[in-house]
Amino acid sequence: MKTPTIALLALACGACASTPPPTPSSAMQPMASRPVAQSAAARPAGSALIQIPTSAPQASLVMGVVPIGSTLIYGGRAVRIGPDGRFVVGVAREQTGALTLDLTLPDGTTRKLSVTITPRSFPVERVNGVPKATVKPPPEIAARIEREQAQVNATRTRDDDREDFEQRFIWPVQGRISGVFGSQRIYNGTPGAAHSGVDIAASQGTPIHAPAGGIVTFANPDLYLTGGTVLIDHGHGVSSNFLHMSRIDVKVGEHVVQGQVIGLVGKTGRATGPHMHWGMNWFDVRIDPQALLEAEGVK
Ligand SMILES: [Zn+2]
Repeated sequence: MKTPTIALLALACGACASTPPPTPSSAMQPMASRPVAQSAAARPAGSALIQIPTSAPQASLVMGVVPIGSTLIYGGRAVRIGPDGRFVVGVAREQTGALTLDLTLPDGTTRKLSVTITPRSFPVERVNGVPKATVKPPPEIAARIEREQAQVNATRTRDDDREDFEQRFIWPVQGRISGVFGSQRIYNGTPGAAHSGVDIAASQGTPIHAPAGGIVTFANPDLYLTGGTVLIDHGHGVSSNFLHMSRIDVKVGEHVVQGQVIGLVGKTGRATGPHMHWGMNWFDVRIDPQALLEAEGVK
């Protein structure tokens, strides 16, 4: 057993080495609904159409439409409403029950919009007998990881008015899924962080394409856990991250279009081999990219 690896796995989910082998049947359940609004939940008298899905799986995006001029509050946060009335919110992996949005229509009337959260099962692997001393990295490494994570987190506070997230996302790299979102190892009974994205098996140097348009908000060739790391903001708090890259072809502030090559697959940082790790967020809420694509019917 590689001691340093175990230590880091327990600390952070950025490194993909924590990904258990794929378990196709149990890993992914069919998505109950597309994240795009499909049904009219309500038609308040005298107001325009409100669209929101009735249900949404854990770790997914919920998109909907409300009348222009409304305000929308979700989890204490004012949700951005686009010029066409479109909005997006994220459902966390651990979230259960229903999510509630507080809508105030332009005429001042208020409504509660509710979306039932569909539970999913995520693969769990128990690892016992890990020596206690190996679970914590040395302080200087821990400090560096924390500093770098803070830099990444800061980019996820953006709330841009661009609506690139409304594009139909494409896979950044074509290949076998070698690690699913949300899988988790439990060390000596203590849960490690859940895997924060989807891993796609690809050889060193394979081009990585932007899955949707956006603005590059972070680009660093050498983070401790995640190596060559790029973040793309797709608007309204939706962002993608790409880890372990061997080369980065974009700069912070650069606007990328869907399909544009942003860099190359690698195994930088704490990766056991070359692969593409793709994570998605709605602000600090982690979203399963694979669920998004499957919900949209992309193979
Ligand atoms: Zn990964």
